[in-house]
Order: sequence, then C-alpha cells, then structure tokens
Amino acid sequence: MKLKKILLTSTLLLAAYSTTMQAQQTQVIAHRGFWQTTGSAQNSITALVKADSIHCYGSELDVWLTADNQLVVNHDDVFKGVIPQDATAAVCTTVRLDNGEPMPTLRQYVLKSRELSTRLIVELKPHRTPEQETRAVQGIVRMIHDYDLEDRVEYISFSLHAVKEFIRLAPAGTPVFYLNGDLEPQALKDLGCAGADYELSVFRQHPEWIAECHALGMKVNAWTVNNAQDMEWLIAHNVDYITTNDPLLLQQILQKNKQ
Ligand code: MG
Repeated sequence: MKLKKILLTSTLLLAAYSTTMQAQQTQVIAHRGFWQTTGSAQNSITALVKADSIHCYGSELDVWLTADNQLVVNHDDVFKGVIPQDATAAVCTTVRLDNGEPMPTLRQYVLKSRELSTRLIVELKPHRTPEQETRAVQGIVRMIHDYDLEDRVEYISFSLHAVKEFIRLAPAGTPVFYLNGDLEPQALKDLGCAGADYELSVFRQHPEWIAECHALGMKVNAWTVNNAQDMEWLIAHNVDYITTNDPLLLQQILQKNKQ
C-alpha cells in the first residue's frame, strides 16, 4: 500500500516536472464564439468569424438535433419560444439571434469554418432520449467527415451517452471531452476521453485532478472562466485550455505572463 502511494506520488511529481519543462501555453477557447463584441451574438456565424479573427485556438458551439433530424446551432432548450428538439429545422432557422442573424444550421457553421482556421469545439446538448443523441452524433460525425474538418474538431457533452457515442463513431484520436465534472481522471481515461473539461469550481475543489490528467496523458479544459484571478490560477496550474466569454482578457493575461 505504502509502495503504491510512493509510486503514485513519484509519477505525479514526474508528470508535473515534465509539464513544466514542456510548458505549453494555455490555449484560448471562445465560449459560444466571440460574442461580446459589436454585431455578434452567442452561437452566431459572426461569433465564429470573430473568434477566428482574434486567433482563438477554438470556438465552442452548441448543437441540437431538430424534430426532422437536422442539426442546428443554439444553446437554449427553449429559444425565443422555439424548442429546437421539437421543431423542424425550417422553423428553427426563422428565429433570429440577438444580432439579427437567423439561427444557423450546423451545415452553415461548418461551411463557414472551412474558410477559417480556428478549431470547432462542438458541444452536443443532452436530448430527451439516447436515440436522439446517437442520431445527432452520427449526423455530426458524418458532416465533419464530408467537409474534411476531422483534423479541426473536438467533441464535448454533458451527456455520458453522447460522449461514448462520439468516442465510438468519430475517427480514432479525435478529442472527446466529458463536461459534467463527476468523473475522476482515471475514469475518463478508461472511457477513452481526451481529458477533463470541467467547470472551474470542480478544479478548485480537486486541483490535483489537473496533474493527474497530465500524468495519464490527458488534457484539461476549464469553463466558463471570465475573471482575471481565475484565469491566473488556472494558468499557474498549467491547464491546457480555458473556455471564456472574454477571450481578449485571457489573451492579454497570457501575453503579460510571457513577458
Ligand atoms: Mg456549450
């Protein structure tokens, strides 16, 4: 027992050391795109373009499967009176976002991203049934393949079923992260996840999970981090990615830390 503990401690120390030596800089992910700026809105095509224009590592987006098995980009389970999983895509896309754009389909989002270089961090929202989620994952994975974006996509979900389906159906090596915060690093590794993508409060409670993920060869992303103190804490703990509504602030802090 004692030997096991010593071995685990040495592994973690070694991992922490090699992380410091490699010192890869924390990357910026724009939460629902870069939307806190003129003319933009959450999950709009504009927010994707703006995240790319400030060179974010990735731009996160939320996806629903509609009642007619199409994929649309929006966060809310009810958006301006429309429930995406109960409505057709034709109805969803008549709803306007706050910047006047129609709610985008995933196809429109993917087509635009072919002109850009930021990575797509695709979140599948939890649906009412696992069958809907499986159909959604099949549709997303196929579309990303058809538009040749497999090297620029990562998948995330609060739904454990969706996470397992992404791991099963996406090409081997595609990063898939679980968002719900209730699984320890080893359990994520056993599932085949690329790492822990948890709310900041989870890492505040379990800061040791960051080094444990790294020791297991996994990545760490924290969300949704909008103030400077929290950003500094995460950067000091060598997290790989921070998802934020304020990508410019995070970039400023990273720049300052480099000097
Ligand atoms: Mg999201």
